[in-house]
Amino acid sequence: MYLSFLIFQDMSSKVTKIGVLTSGGDSPGMNAAIRAVVRTGLYYGLEVYGITRGYQGLIEDDIIKMNGRSVANIIQRGGTILKTARCMEFMEQEGRQKAYDNLKKRGIDGLVIIGGDGSFRGANKFSSEFDIPCIGLAGTIDKDISGTDFTIGFDTAVNTAVEAIDKIRDTMDAHDRVFVIEVMGRDAGYIALHSGIATGAENILIPERKTDINSIIKSLKEKERRKKMVNLIVVAEGDDFGGADQVSRVLKENLPKAEIRVCILGHIQRGGAPSCLDRIIASRMGYHAVESLLQGRHNVFVGIQDNKMNYIPLEQAVKTKGKISDEWLDIVKILAS
Ligand code: ADP
Repeated sequence: MYLSFLIFQDMSSKVTKIGVLTSGGDSPGMNAAIRAVVRTGLYYGLEVYGITRGYQGLIEDDIIKMNGRSVANIIQRGGTILKTARCMEFMEQEGRQKAYDNLKKRGIDGLVIIGGDGSFRGANKFSSEFDIPCIGLAGTIDKDISGTDFTIGFDTAVNTAVEAIDKIRDTMDAHDRVFVIEVMGRDAGYIALHSGIATGAENILIPERKTDINSIIKSLKEKERRKKMVNLIVVAEGDDFGGADQVSRVLKENLPKAEIRVCILGHIQRGGAPSCLDRIIASRMGYHAVESLLQGRHNVFVGIQDNKMNYIPLEQAVKTKGKISDEWLDIVKILAS
């Protein structure tokens, strides 16, 4: 799909030592990806180094040699054994120069970056300034990166949200209450949309669509009139109307007799054992990241589309804001009626 000269480097400069790091927001499945990178690298006779705390560890020379045992018994663990960080110093050229010097003195000649679009922008800048091929793996619970049907962590985060919302629904139903549940998604509504549909939410509020609070108030007033005041509203934290607190405040003003409760799921969505799907996509992507470096592919991130690997130039790593099709919202409306 993309011109090959964009993503292949000179085959004579074959990698021998690679580094792997996790950067930006953590997501469940990052450990499975680290494991796949390390084990695939070792299988092909490469030296593999783990860099702690993302670009911060790279600048501070916090780099450790990995072996097969370093990644034993981690495929099922959330978080990241390498830790992650946001690093302002890497935004500056001097920071990136320090990072490069630390790689060079060890002879590390390829880098795998597991993170979101911000981490990919950093990797793109780094690899355009220095002769270090970089391969990205999309690790983000928000699933908001174009070019891939999956990102590492999304499936786990959604399943965590579904489990929590199911529990809330039990008590909501027992008491005839309205619940406004906030899930993660500052720029993207995928977690809200998937978890809301899977739990039978009546309303799902997402950043990609303008929220019509008046129509929600109208339908709740109708429910109140019919004495059937049970209603589940799932709202993404980045919804244009505001988060769950703002939504419930306005609902309470307009429906003073209704029992309206708020629950913000928060960081539980980031943690926990990765789902089977996240372990598998992390393993596939990690394996293909190393294969890519060996084949001389560089400065791309590994996505999966239509069950095939898709290599997208890092410079094209952008958030997929606004791409949710109307079909999904029609499903929400029709199934909740
Ligand atoms: P995520 O990867 O989850 O989107 P961030 O957007 O916070 O997370 O990015 C992670 C890190 O990537 C930043 O802390 C910074 O070190 C690096 N980074 C992001 N954007 C750039 C950029 N334009 N130039 C250099 N480094 C960047």
